[in-house]
Order: sequence, then C-alpha cells, then structure tokens
Amino acid sequence: MKPLIVQKYGGATLADPEKIKSVAARVASQSKENSLIVVVSAMGKTTNSLIDLANQVSAHPQRREMDMLLTVGERISMSLMSMALNDLGCPAISFTGSQAGIFTDDSHVNAFIKDVKPMRVEESLKTDKVVILAGFQGVSPVTKEITTLGRGGSDTSAVAMAAAFNAERCEILKDVPAVFTADPNVVKAAKPIQELSYDQLMDMTFWGAKVLHYRSVELAKLRDVTLYIGPASSKTSDGTLVKKGLNMFESCKALSLNSHETVVGILSKEKNPAKALKDLQVLFDEKQIPFPQLLHYEMNLDKTEMLLTGPSEIILAIKKELQNHAQFTLLPTDFSTVTLTCTGATSPEITQKVLNALSEKKLETRKLMMSAMSVTVLVDAPLRKQVIESLHQLI
Ligand code: ASP
Ligand code: MG
Repeated sequence: MKPLIVQKYGGATLADPEKIKSVAARVASQSKENSLIVVVSAMGKTTNSLIDLANQVSAHPQRREMDMLLTVGERISMSLMSMALNDLGCPAISFTGSQAGIFTDDSHVNAFIKDVKPMRVEESLKTDKVVILAGFQGVSPVTKEITTLGRGGSDTSAVAMAAAFNAERCEILKDVPAVFTADPNVVKAAKPIQELSYDQLMDMTFWGAKVLHYRSVELAKLRDVTLYIGPASSKTSDGTLVKKGLNMFESCKALSLNSHETVVGILSKEKNPAKALKDLQVLFDEKQIPFPQLLHYEMNLDKTEMLLTGPSEIILAIKKELQNHAQFTLLPTDFSTVTLTCTGATSPEITQKVLNALSEKKLETRKLMMSAMSVTVLVDAPLRKQVIESLHQLI
C-alpha cells in the first residue's frame, strides 16, 4: 500500500490556469509513490472578490448566503484541478466538503468540524484516484446547510482529513518556502524556521501569523497529525516541520514575531462584563457579522472594554455598525499587537529585552500581555512596522 499524504495548496499557488497546471504536474508525479488527498483553496483573491460582490448587493449579507457564495471559490479550484490531472493521465475526482463527509456544527461563516465520514473519499482512494477536496467548507448534518470554516479555513479541512485517515503527514504548500521569523515583506532579515513545536505554532497563529489557520494547528496537535509547511514549487522540500519533540533543553530564546495589523477597541456602557459580551454577540448576529477574535477584556467600575481583531472585512463591518450606537463606542485609534513567541517566557529576561528595544527607539507601548510562550505589546497601529523591525533584532 502506498503511504497516504494530504496536501493543501494555497490560493496563491492556484492563482491562474498556468499555476493550476503546474501544481497538477507536481501532484501527478507525486501520486506515483503516494496516495494523495489534495485540498485546494480558492484561486488567488477569489474569496475577497466574492465578498466584495456580496457587499455590492446587500448592506447586511446573510451569513447563510455568504456560505453559499464563498464555497463557490473552492469549487472552481477543485474542478479545474481535477480536469488538469485527468488530462495528464492521472485519474482524479473532486468533492465538495459535504460530498467528502465534512460535518460541522450548524453555525455559518465560522463553523467547527464535528466529525468526518469520508466514505466517497475512501472509495475513490481504493480505485487509485487522486482525491481533490474543496477546502474551507462542510455541511451541518442537523440543518443540512452548507457551512464554511472561517477565513483561511482550508488548512483546517486538510488537517481534519489527515486525522480521519491517519495520514502519514499533512503538507501545507504555499508560494512562500517556509514559516519565517517575521513577515519577510516587513523585515528583510527574516529567516526561515526549520522546526517548531505545535505549541509554538499555535501561539504564533493565535497572535496573527497568517501562514496557517490557528484552528488547523490546534486540531493537528489534538489528533497528532504531522504538519509540514513548505513551498508548492516542485523541487524544494526544505520547509518547516512541526514536531512533537524538539532536540533541546531549557532556554530563553526569541523565535518569531507576529502581529495583528488592526485591533479595535470597543467600550460598552454595560458594567456586567458577561452581559456586555452577550449584547455584542446579539448585535453581531442581528447584523450578520461573524464574531471576531477576542484578544483582551478589561472591566472597569462603569464600563467594559474589549479588544478585538479579525479579517479586514469584519473590522470594516464592525466600524460601520458601531459608528452611532447607544451602548457601544469605538475607541478612536486603531491598535496593533506585536507578539514575540519565545521559549522561557516565565523568566523576565525576554520581557526586559522587549521593553529595552522599544524604549531605545522611543516606541510607546499601550499594554504588555504575557502568555506561556510569548510577550505581546499593544501599540498604536501606525507604529506596527517600526515595532516589528526593532524587536526582530532580538531573534
Ligand atoms: N478561500 C478561503 C479564504 O480565502 C479559505 C482559504 O483560503 O483557506 O479565506
Ligand atoms: Mg484563500
């Protein structure tokens, strides 16, 4: 029996017909030695264009209909990929999430995978076909509705498939060659990282690394799926391996810098913090806005303050909705978080270095937040790049 590998190709690697054909050639050649499940994202910026379209016809597009719309993106990629493979003489078949048995809860736009029953995938693999799976989508067995997993969710589809089949590994293939110490577009000196632990990558993605969907790393850890993040170009194989054990003892070391570009602050007049959050959820439900990622919560005597982040389309929708609201006000400035993922965060050494590096450059920090693996600073959004550049010297 050939080993089973799940490969996920990101939207940038499938951006045009030529790119799809070159990924197909890579898949066809690898299918000689491996059984393959290939998970695809939507081509290039398709998902963003579909969101734009929705906003042009409706001020509050319903989340159910957004799922119907956005799942089209991955459906285009999967069918084209399958056509290209069959043309190369490599038998392939494409499936939507629901055909592949990806069962989710019944929420829309940010559904969680509850079970995978991939009968049709299994049958096709037995007949030696390459299975192409539309990422980012599933179906609720309760409502029978099509659902999506949140922006970037194809990674999570791939990990779920790898877990269901106990695959050899799950490869996340991109147009960048590895996970880097910082965004190479911001820091020229950023270096590729060869290996990471699940916890390190979870911390990095929670704090804004776009290289992978946070939930995919959480699931990979839970189900012990070996993850590899590497280039989709045919030759190289020196990406980042995510492993259970790393060959090291204790250390106090800075590993990687990540950031949430836009963090908004929302003040609620409600004193009861649980009610403040509930009210916000109700408001977002009413306006069909997906709930963003909560980063910080602060209770004061007469109000509650929340810091939130999310994809730019969600941030925009929130700003529009809260402009003139009776209970909620937006803080006037946008913030960013910059996070240094490290080992040895319980020692003050790294925190001290972060504070020194920032004060040397006179970069003012609003808040410092600690976690088991990182130090996060909250800064005014215009300072983000300078903060990233100055903290990268600690790596
Ligand atoms: N196409 C979706 C997005 O752009 C899902 C994904 O790429 O993983 O968010
Ligand atoms: Mg995409």
